[in-house]
Amino acid sequence: MPGKLVQIEDYEQFVGAETVERVREKAKPLKELHVAHVNSTYYGGGVAELLSSLTLLMNGLGITTEWRVIQGAPDFFSVTKKMHNALQGGRINLSELKQEIYEGVVWENSVRNHLDHDRVIIHDPQPLPMISHYQKKGPWIWRCHVDLTEPNRELWEYLTPFVEKYDAVILTLEEYRQELVTPQVFFMPAIDPFSIKNRHLSEEERQARLDYYDIPTDLPLVVQISRFDRWKDPEGVIEAFKLARGEVDATLVLLGNIATDDPEGEEVYQSLLGCQDERIIILARQDTALVNALQSRAAVVLQKSIREGFGLTVTEAMWKGTPVIGGNVGGIRYQIEDGVNGFLVSSVEEAAQRMVQLIADEELRERIGQRAKETVRERFLMIRLLEQYVDLLDSFETIYRLA
Ligand code: UDP
Repeated sequence: MPGKLVQIEDYEQFVGAETVERVREKAKPLKELHVAHVNSTYYGGGVAELLSSLTLLMNGLGITTEWRVIQGAPDFFSVTKKMHNALQGGRINLSELKQEIYEGVVWENSVRNHLDHDRVIIHDPQPLPMISHYQKKGPWIWRCHVDLTEPNRELWEYLTPFVEKYDAVILTLEEYRQELVTPQVFFMPAIDPFSIKNRHLSEEERQARLDYYDIPTDLPLVVQISRFDRWKDPEGVIEAFKLARGEVDATLVLLGNIATDDPEGEEVYQSLLGCQDERIIILARQDTALVNALQSRAAVVLQKSIREGFGLTVTEAMWKGTPVIGGNVGGIRYQIEDGVNGFLVSSVEEAAQRMVQLIADEELRERIGQRAKETVRERFLMIRLLEQYVDLLDSFETIYRLA
């Protein structure tokens, strides 16, 4: 049984007492508020990861905060996954039937969820239309986590009337800004340094996790950890690894889980299994300590995404002082400064070349890893995101008091 839940004070060691005090002071006026976060899965992707820590910290500050998860049968999540893909630039056949399933299931969830909170934060497209079914008691915020560089126009036009019912929209990056009447703000995600995924594990604990899954540690480990999703380019990682192996010896581990709101995961996972060999290990497991062990033990972590809203897996590996080779897209570019605290790549060949370079040069790995860790300490710990939410939630007060 853990001694206590993480509190904002615990962040002092990373950000100093002054920052902690400032956030605490800012949160004081929000103590009467009831806040609800709503998303569509308890685990398996970055949003669930964020909400599990953020909602506890908000409660720790005295802001009564709930986390609700909407339910849906697989056909609902099949539609919403297609929407997710189309928002990241893919195509969609937006049939009436799809719209009926989407709006129908969201309506049913709205009947079951009584949201009379002072602030409601809806995450991602799955629960987006819920707002149509409530008499708002306070501002509603839509927080969209996907890479909106080039959303499919037809889908965006269909979603816009829902989005514009909100009082504010949070996107990850300025460059994802859309033409909307609703005000838009930009928050990058962050990690919880105290979670099992991110805290320091002893060498024995790490080894135990790796041994449990028969992961060999005789050669350097190259690792990508991601939902099994084409946007994460698992095929590209395998190709790059095969190229690199012509010059250096290593073991590749692709670890993925399958989120309940991502019905394509199983198919992508199955399609990769044929690539396995003695040095290419593909695992579908939900094991948080294994994620930690792999990220901290790896010589190199890859996140070779083609689109990436932010990429918490990049932050997590950087926090462990492990050099990351990331796709030069979306949020990854705001974490990795090429050649300074990691490498950005745009092709399989480049990824292979950086892999070889890093595996061969321990000093380079050390230098890049140290810078990576420092970047996360300065910019990507949960207390920074908490402060942004506190500021945003507080900014409505006057408007709604006047109304
Ligand atoms: N994750 C995990 N196990 C896995 C794959 C992913 O715990 O097998 C976690 C990962 O550590 C990270 C989150 O899921 O915290 C993925 O977030 P990210 O922003 O990288 O991508 P998303 O899945 O949201 O597109």
